[in-house]
Amino acid sequence: MPLPRGVNGLHHITAISGPAQENIDFYAGILGMHLVKRSVNQDDPGTYHLFYADAEGSPGTDLTFFPWAMAAPPRIGHGLAVETSLEIPAGSLEYWSARLTRYGVRTGPVDMRFGDRSLPVIDTHDFRLALVEGAGGPASYRRFTPWDRSSVPAERQIRGLYGARLWERNIEVTAGFLTGVLGFERLGREQEWTRFGFKNAAGFVDVRDTPGERRGGWGVGAVHHLAWRVDDEVHQLAVRSQVEAAGGHPTPVIDRFWFKSVYFREPGGVLFEIATDGPGFATDEDPARLGETLVLPPWLEAQRDRIESMLPPIALPVGTD
Ligand code: ZN
Repeated sequence: MPLPRGVNGLHHITAISGPAQENIDFYAGILGMHLVKRSVNQDDPGTYHLFYADAEGSPGTDLTFFPWAMAAPPRIGHGLAVETSLEIPAGSLEYWSARLTRYGVRTGPVDMRFGDRSLPVIDTHDFRLALVEGAGGPASYRRFTPWDRSSVPAERQIRGLYGARLWERNIEVTAGFLTGVLGFERLGREQEWTRFGFKNAAGFVDVRDTPGERRGGWGVGAVHHLAWRVDDEVHQLAVRSQVEAAGGHPTPVIDRFWFKSVYFREPGGVLFEIATDGPGFATDEDPARLGETLVLPPWLEAQRDRIESMLPPIALPVGTD
């Protein structure tokens, strides 16, 4: 069987949060990430979609949120990404630990993950994060531009997405899909976690076999989906065909304006997306002023007044240093 045309590592991760302002205060304020786009959920335009990344919104640095303040907490279980990890520079873990403590953020004890030091963190809305000191290898395949107006100095800033932890009902079924359809490699096993990733792309998934757990479900503080990079639309259609040939049910290509997207569930139930690198966040805003005002995709512009009246006012955090 020919090898699949693999994906190029993580593009973005999207999660569900509580109130938008509290989400901004945590990610743009305490974590010092750049709010590169403030837009709306294109399937639910009365709610925001907020994107935090490096200065430019480079693929692989982007953590995004749907603030659904009225949603219930998630049901942790299989078929769900149970933690998202962000990469921090080697040697910066003590800085981050002290900073998070200063802001009263809940953190867990430092642990080691496949040789990388990791600090577990719980955000304002019980979303589980880890800040991981990456060894630098695959991360060099991800672009990172420091954000010069961040409250965090450039040499300490979050470098991008490190990966995610998944619970699965049958790890071998998911493993076969990751390696046989999306081009992942099985990289190793440590305690109950099996790591999948790429030698020449950034982004790991660590999978735990949890056949005895209930099925997981979305809620405030849960990952909504993981998006994987493809070069362009040709590459995207090739991967889409592989998913379909493997019995998956990918959506048609959807134009998200800043990238094109295809969605499907991997066999264990986690929602995946295949997203193109381009055209990127500067397609509709001055690159120097990304995220400063509400941006709508062209087909929603005619409804701007109504949409703005439904959204709570938000502002960039002040007083975070
Ligand atoms: Zn997405």
